[in-house]
Amino acid sequence: MQAFVKPKFKWMAYHHLNFAISNSPAIPNIDKIACISVACENFWDKHSHMNLHLEQIKALNVEASSKCTAKCPFCSRQQKIRPYGPHIISFEAFKKLPADMISRLRRITFAGNFGDFSTNPEMTDIAAYVKNLNPGVVLGGDTNGMVQSTEWWRALGSSFHDGGLIFSVDGLADTHALHRVGTDYHAVIRNMEAFIRGGGVAFWKFIVFAHNEHQVEAAARIAEDIGCAGFKAITSRDYNDRLEPPRQIDVKLKREIFRDYADDEACAMCNPIGKGSIYLAADGTVHPCCFAHCMYITEHNRLFRFIVPLIDKYQDRINFKTRSLAEILSGPYFKAVLAASETNPYCRMKCNVYKQKVRDELVVYERDFRDVGTMRDVSDDSVKQKG
Ligand code: SF4
Ligand code: SF4
Repeated sequence: MQAFVKPKFKWMAYHHLNFAISNSPAIPNIDKIACISVACENFWDKHSHMNLHLEQIKALNVEASSKCTAKCPFCSRQQKIRPYGPHIISFEAFKKLPADMISRLRRITFAGNFGDFSTNPEMTDIAAYVKNLNPGVVLGGDTNGMVQSTEWWRALGSSFHDGGLIFSVDGLADTHALHRVGTDYHAVIRNMEAFIRGGGVAFWKFIVFAHNEHQVEAAARIAEDIGCAGFKAITSRDYNDRLEPPRQIDVKLKREIFRDYADDEACAMCNPIGKGSIYLAADGTVHPCCFAHCMYITEHNRLFRFIVPLIDKYQDRINFKTRSLAEILSGPYFKAVLAASETNPYCRMKCNVYKQKVRDELVVYERDFRDVGTMRDVSDDSVKQKG
């Protein structure tokens, strides 16, 4: 199979200067590192001790539910070392977010670390409420597409006509559930079709293994036939004896790609300042990114452990269900994270100028069927992927 991978770079207004420099053809390669270093120093001189204000927030990554009916083996749900039970951001709770902030947002991504947003039955109300306050906001996210009725998906589609939702379908009828354990291919396709009929823009994401690599092109054809806007096959977060890596397609694990891009000179640009985005976990806690909350619940990387005592100390003061978001953003938790992230090695590895390149290298096959944006536009800018 011939992989068809289109290198793309789409300028998003809130991408940081760092990315502008690294992708600018006007700046010779040899000057870029120096340029970025100066930009980093100036940036942090100006921002590292600042108060974060609501007005700076332009994007949300929302874990609308921490529940999921599937059991994908490599999901963060399987790696919890702290209790993180079923939580949901109800419509009532969501309305506690300041309406004037919602009306200024450019993007909301319904993704999250530990659940599938479709297990939140009020998502249709939340999405309609957001679009009513801010018709121009781009809604994105990802889902296994398994639960809820076709009527529910159809209603949801009407709020995703100018954004897009990524459906995770890892094969065809005979292979999909080998990785996406507990889901049913036919039910997911039915729900995706209902979402598209409702006006939603759908993308198909296919995680590639030895057992499904021969189905990539057939799946892409089905995606086009049912009206998806695009199709992308990517490498898994991990492989094991049962879920083996493909043999015909070259794949690299994300952690290996990160190692390839290790750069002692790279500086971190923390999401709230660099991209104007924050992460809302389903329990109501507010963080700079999904990594921060995931690290607290799973402790998957010792380099990022600075976050654990901070969340332990401040978790009662960072919950938007009980405190105002403005108070949380200007409070001690965000100040401490912003200061620590500047030099933290994990942050420097995850949130540096190479972040988008790492994401691009996970893609082994890609097709766009309609000129309505790309999957990158509707997923969180972080390189984290579930399962
Ligand atoms: S990984 Fe670190 S630098 Fe990146 S958004 Fe999270 S806390 Fe900030
Ligand atoms: S990867 Fe997604 S679908 Fe699979 S168990 Fe995790 S949250 Fe559920």
